[in-house]
Amino acid sequence: MDFDLVVIGAGPVGGLVAGAVAEKGYRVALVEEHREVGEPVQCGGLITPRVFDLVPGRETIVNEVHGAEIFGPAQQRMRIDAHRTEAVVVDRAKFDQAIVRHALKRGVKSFLGAKAVAGRYADGGVEVVVDRDGKQDRLTGKMLVGADGVQSVVAKWFKILRPKYILPGFEVEMTGVAGDPGFVKLFVGHEVAPGFFGWIIPSGEDSGRVGLCVREGNAFAYLEKMMRWGPVAEFVKRAQPLLYIAGGIPIGFPRRTYADRVMIVGDAACQVKGTSGGGIYSGLRCAAHCANTALEALAKDDFSSRQMRRYHKAWSGTVGKELRKDLAIFESFASLTDRQMDDLFEIFNQPEMVRIIEEHGDIDFPSKVGWRLLREEPRLLKYTGKALRAMVPRIGG
Ligand SMILES: Cc1cc2nc3c(=O)[nH]c(=O)nc-3n(C[C@H](O)[C@H](O)[C@H](O)COP(=O)(O)OP(=O)(O)OC[C@H]3O[C@@H](n4cnc5c(N)ncnc54)[C@H](O)[C@@H]3O)c2cc1C
Repeated sequence: MDFDLVVIGAGPVGGLVAGAVAEKGYRVALVEEHREVGEPVQCGGLITPRVFDLVPGRETIVNEVHGAEIFGPAQQRMRIDAHRTEAVVVDRAKFDQAIVRHALKRGVKSFLGAKAVAGRYADGGVEVVVDRDGKQDRLTGKMLVGADGVQSVVAKWFKILRPKYILPGFEVEMTGVAGDPGFVKLFVGHEVAPGFFGWIIPSGEDSGRVGLCVREGNAFAYLEKMMRWGPVAEFVKRAQPLLYIAGGIPIGFPRRTYADRVMIVGDAACQVKGTSGGGIYSGLRCAAHCANTALEALAKDDFSSRQMRRYHKAWSGTVGKELRKDLAIFESFASLTDRQMDDLFEIFNQPEMVRIIEEHGDIDFPSKVGWRLLREEPRLLKYTGKALRAMVPRIGG
């Protein structure tokens, strides 16, 4: 029960960190409260293929997407077709399982059905108490990684601040969904999903994940209402629900994602894009930084907060740059009225603007296309004050 590293949370991010450290011969424990990795699913499973540069699991792809149909508050429609695979949809439970299986092959010891209930410094290291069917065990480690998702207990134990926003989300997996399975459908407007947006992520020929996130309020009630809203109702009129999913999306990362002997990563550290709520790619990139710092710390036998800070600097200086801009775009977008969104729709829905998005849009780096769009259409300036200020360092660079 004594390890070099204890990782809490066997999601994709915890799986990557655990596997990368165990691969170098260190003793790693991976603690997961559920008995089955990946269950229950709390995700739409839409990622870019570049995720597979970081983790295995390509075989869990169930659909490929090459564009989006976006519906505005007045039910106006805009179609973006990149004519290439822009994103893929995975079976999220199997995707997580593939990553964790890979980690186990590298020597990670897993504790499934084990809920971490307490964590503290003890005996010159870190101690975690896990509860398995009412029986408590004590794991100790030189270091602790909290990859324990949006409600991170590790962040709470070690007094690391929580996200600026947690957006409630709800999603239902359905069969009998109409529409082109090569296109994600997005729905914006205060009637549908105030402060964020709704979606249909096609997961096969006639199946899809119909969901939304809102700035605040009862996401389920909004989802029920969205299903009756014109364009959505058309897509789901013959659909049957298979599975309901609820979850929160953390937006706005804390100033510090570490403490002595401790790092938090993934949703626990709010490493999520404010523009889409997607956290798999950004979380995995940060997980690679986290694993590097852990390996460095183990090699040097230095677990001080100063050493752990290297992780924070590494990810916030790379992935964090995009996340900061995405947060600003999210905040600008959330404050728009439906009337302003209608205006924006008109601006975006011009052939040259659509062409720029089709050619240069990238869901992992949504801010990148921003400059080109602004150059093409200065009317955008009116709506992008905060987002623009966050992007200004790019002008200098
Ligand atoms: C409705 C919805 C749709 C989404 N759609 C997408 C999408 O299409 N694409 C995308 O990129 N992202 C999406 N996301 C975000 C994505 O799901 C997360 O960013 C991603 O799962 C983060 O991975 P993680 O490993 O950090 O955390 P998680 O996947 O949340 O894993 C954390 C793990 O820690 C475990 N855990 C928590 N507490 C404890 C404890 N005390 N003891 C033991 N184990 C514990 C949990 O059981 C869980 O297995 C969506 C989120 C929501 C809510």
